[in-house]
Amino acid sequence: MSLYAHERRIAELAVERACKLTSIVSGSQQKDSVSKSDHSPVTVADFGAQAVIIGALQTVFPEDPVVGEEDSSILRKDDGLRDHVWRLVQEASGFDTYQTEIGQVESEKKVLDYIDWGRFEGGKVKRMWALDPVDGTKGFLRGGQFAVCLALIVDSKVVVGVIGCPNLLVDPADESSGSGMIFSAVIGEGAFSRPLASPIDSAVPISMRSLTDPSTASFCESVEAGHSSHGQQAKIAQSLGITKPSVRMDSQAKYASIARGDGDIYLRLPVSATYEEKIWDHASGNLLVAEAGGMVTDMYGNPLDFSQGRTLKKNKGIVAASKVIQPKVLEAVQKVLHES
Ligand code: AMP
Ligand code: MG
Repeated sequence: MSLYAHERRIAELAVERACKLTSIVSGSQQKDSVSKSDHSPVTVADFGAQAVIIGALQTVFPEDPVVGEEDSSILRKDDGLRDHVWRLVQEASGFDTYQTEIGQVESEKKVLDYIDWGRFEGGKVKRMWALDPVDGTKGFLRGGQFAVCLALIVDSKVVVGVIGCPNLLVDPADESSGSGMIFSAVIGEGAFSRPLASPIDSAVPISMRSLTDPSTASFCESVEAGHSSHGQQAKIAQSLGITKPSVRMDSQAKYASIARGDGDIYLRLPVSATYEEKIWDHASGNLLVAEAGGMVTDMYGNPLDFSQGRTLKKNKGIVAASKVIQPKVLEAVQKVLHES
């Protein structure tokens, strides 16, 4: 019996329920988005998904702190938005049969309380969860890729990672295969995937492509030029001899895609010297790729340090690839950094 089997199951049920909530929002054409103080968009789906997931965690693991992206300050001031989120939360939980395991969000007040349980400051603690309820909100608004991401961090190490990708094709080579995938990993036990519509015990192992020559690699990066340096990434690809154009997609769907072998390399070179990557943007993806035979480091080759609070302040940039080619990619990163 796996050490974290229960945590993984609860995380998957919670992420699945949150993915249903995002699908309700996508289908309704009423995405209700507002701007946060840093001018990034947040939608009813971000708030609803955070409430649903923390509600599940509070039901099963009431002691566990959560570092979540959102807080309720905007909702407390906006009755219409709050009401919309509450209706969504009820609708999403009404669809599933998980109540006995992960409970239900009981009231509008609980929606706000659960969202704010995600304000934990992080750091060196025994156990905490990192949650990005809708990673890639810009992708979600565009109808592109986004991901619901939940990870358990124990003693500063990610030990469980779950990523739900409602818009990711089941079979990337077949447009008619339908969309909606969920990925999960437990430390030391491999990485798995299944369609969101399939039962939890139907997940199959996934692994990265075993590539030895990086020039044949396919690499992915953010859609948003404001999130990573497309220019430097193009130079790194060129220095590796890669001729294929990059695959651009939002969110941790990038980690999931390389983990299952759709692509080989994920590059995220900073555009700003002061931006600190958030732990919820990398915790799940980091474990998924590692468990699928890959390696994730920052642009200097250091492992990601999840013990520094809500951000990865000790790290800059992300370089993810299979174990065999990751050192070669890092070399190319260093070369391009020295030239610029
Ligand atoms: P992606 O979809 O991979 O571009 O990543 C989306 C994430 O980028 C969001 O969840 C934000 O937390 C994060 N983000 C916002 N601003 C920046 C920035 N200047 N540099 C890197 N990441 C950012
Ligand atoms: Mg995010």
